[in-house]
Amino acid sequence: MKRLRIHIKGIVQGVGFRPFVHSLAKKYGLAGWVINDSRGVEIEVDGDESLHKFIEDLKTEAPPLSQIVDIASELVEISDGAKYHGFEIRESEDVEGERVLISPDVATCPDCLREMYTPGDPRYRYPFLNCTNCGPRFTIIEDLPYDRPLTTMREFPMCGDCRDEYETPSDRRFHAQPTCCPICGPKLNFLDHDGVEIDGDPIELAIEFIKNGKIVAVKGLGGFHLACDATNPDAVRRLRERKHREAKPLAVMVGGISAARRLAEVNSDAESALLSPARPILILPQRPDTKIADGRIHGVTGGLKTIGIMLPYTPIHHLLFRPLPIDPSETSKIAIPEEIGGPGDEKFDKFVALVMTSGNISDEPIASENDEAVERLKGIADGFLIHARKIYRRADDSVATIRSGIATIWRWGRGHVPRPIFLPETLPPVLGVGGELKTTVCHIRNDKAFVSPHIGDLKTFETYGYFDETISHQEKILDVKPEIIACDMHPDYHSTRWAEERSEKSGLPLIKIQHHHAHAVALMVEHGLSADSEIICLAMDGTGYGTDGNTWGGEILKTSMTGFERLGHITYAPLPGGDRAIKEVWRTAYGRLYKFLKSDNLSALFGEIPDEHLDVVGKMIHDNINSPQVCSLGRLFDAAAFIVGIRGSTIDADFDGQFPMLLEALVKSDPHGKTAILDGIVSVDDSGKISIDGDKIILHIAHERSINNLPPDELAFEFHEIVIDSLFRAATIACESTGISTVGLSGGCFMNRILHEQLTKKLTDSGLNVLTHRIMPPNDGCISLGQAISAAYKIKR
Ligand SMILES: [Zn+2]
Ligand SMILES: [Zn+2]
Repeated sequence: MKRLRIHIKGIVQGVGFRPFVHSLAKKYGLAGWVINDSRGVEIEVDGDESLHKFIEDLKTEAPPLSQIVDIASELVEISDGAKYHGFEIRESEDVEGERVLISPDVATCPDCLREMYTPGDPRYRYPFLNCTNCGPRFTIIEDLPYDRPLTTMREFPMCGDCRDEYETPSDRRFHAQPTCCPICGPKLNFLDHDGVEIDGDPIELAIEFIKNGKIVAVKGLGGFHLACDATNPDAVRRLRERKHREAKPLAVMVGGISAARRLAEVNSDAESALLSPARPILILPQRPDTKIADGRIHGVTGGLKTIGIMLPYTPIHHLLFRPLPIDPSETSKIAIPEEIGGPGDEKFDKFVALVMTSGNISDEPIASENDEAVERLKGIADGFLIHARKIYRRADDSVATIRSGIATIWRWGRGHVPRPIFLPETLPPVLGVGGELKTTVCHIRNDKAFVSPHIGDLKTFETYGYFDETISHQEKILDVKPEIIACDMHPDYHSTRWAEERSEKSGLPLIKIQHHHAHAVALMVEHGLSADSEIICLAMDGTGYGTDGNTWGGEILKTSMTGFERLGHITYAPLPGGDRAIKEVWRTAYGRLYKFLKSDNLSALFGEIPDEHLDVVGKMIHDNINSPQVCSLGRLFDAAAFIVGIRGSTIDADFDGQFPMLLEALVKSDPHGKTAILDGIVSVDDSGKISIDGDKIILHIAHERSINNLPPDELAFEFHEIVIDSLFRAATIACESTGISTVGLSGGCFMNRILHEQLTKKLTDSGLNVLTHRIMPPNDGCISLGQAISAAYKIKR
């Protein structure tokens, strides 16, 4: 007989790992013990031949929410007569200097759903049931260790029955910290628009309100949602008006997979992403023949050909779609959700789809507490479905999409935080404070990097406060004290100013990382590249401060973790009015075409812009007043979109990236990757610097419209084709001149499906290795990670 000591590192706590080990040991008849310590899980077992099977099963049969990073085992000597009898789960231990990894919030599991839908079960119809495999985690944890007294569930002492389950190793609620039942746990309440409680069944009241076209604020896991009936055009319009969200797409929730299939193209990749425990909002192609097209879902997609869909992920959501009768004897009428083998037919659903959008006013953080929600959402919501389980940390829904068959995250949030990115080596504790829009922050602790949930646009006062709060909370639950701060080079970013102030006050060194370099490093670390790796990175986004003081964003970089060389870029053009041109995209087109207006007879393209505006902007460009030089691909898309003729209800962009997204939506079929139709767009000068001639691209599209009268969809197609081909050529040249064969694609422009998939394909077909984001968003949500890692390596070397 042998005795093995097994150490397991990763996400192995609060996910049902010890009961799993317990039952596995019983299966093989092994004696010993398992314990949680702050490094992970430790096991000691006595056995013989079955030991290797036991270890094999530990890896392959681990609970769905666990993530094993490392398993190590060693032989231990058995001292005389000290044999184990039976297998026990021992009390947790803390190890100095190490902290456990806590699990993200998890969608209600099939076992819990089954209980909720079973008449006679103690938790029948109970909207707060959860177990070791599901329920709230990150959003209710105030401090570590992860135990009930340090979560917002401490206000609900367990009843005798719940405690029995909690203490029984073989029970599926063994050590489930948030477990509760109708006797001891929270309850739902329904409030009117003034915050006054209405008598009646809260779920039924919420359904009735929504059915009547009203907007209901629903307390979820990471904050409040604003919900309304997606098939009621008046309700959707009211929600948009009250939320000041004119055109930005709204996410919808549907009752199950078959309902999702009615609205969107759901293949098996999409199905597993929709049903994954993180339950993201998944951006999918709309089905052309659906109820959206015949007008049953209104005003949710903002004119795009995609739709953001998610499935219910809390018991409250399930009950809104498939309410249960108060009297269990009437249960013949109920619909059993698909996740537990129910009919999964939307004829049982109360709603075709609910708009479920973050409970906030545009650009502010999501509301998380009852009083705060009533205060802030007054005037938007007609009713509030609330409860007393507090949300300690807010987290927006995660957003994901499918690219080349793989789920790809666009917004890091609920369901993913606080999952770490595992690093190839231990690095110094750096705080990366991110950018300005779509901000996140990142802390490094030893060999892991922790990226915060999506914070948002730091320009609003509320978001800035949330940013500050997020940093303090992360430092507490991760038990880290940053020794270095990393920020962007942009002098006017709120995050830069925060970092400068903090550095001055605390004396901590501040390292500024160039925006697109941060993009590249985030991509490299996400793919587990080592410290000495180098890649070619195409960093394509809207704006980023360059080392020459200009606005970058069309970058061909050779990058390492610590530095970069700018091998080339899209050519510069003036951006008359600076940030104003981001909203008024005609200015961007004017900046690109100004010098060709007369000779090429292009003035008619700007026919609808009043002459006095053209005069002023023309003078700005001519005299170089408030016209920064910009080379970003995002602005090139804006210019093309304007020329192609995208207007919509307004001539101004309503949200970041709107015009490029509308331009993408025009393209009817993907380019086939044929050779470029235009010569001379990509060139290399004597010093080896690569240029992509942005003027030429825009001028070509302008000619195609004004001379050849090409329709918008063909113009959009051609523009995409030229851009893909140009980036392909530029990347190939960069790889040849450097001998590097790995090309990374980062930046918000790669959220464009056609660009992402076609360029990846072309580069891969030509024998290059392509890296794209999967875990971190390609947009500025990844910046904090890149900043922290790059700064950490700079200090370490
Ligand atoms: Zn469960
Ligand atoms: Zn109870």
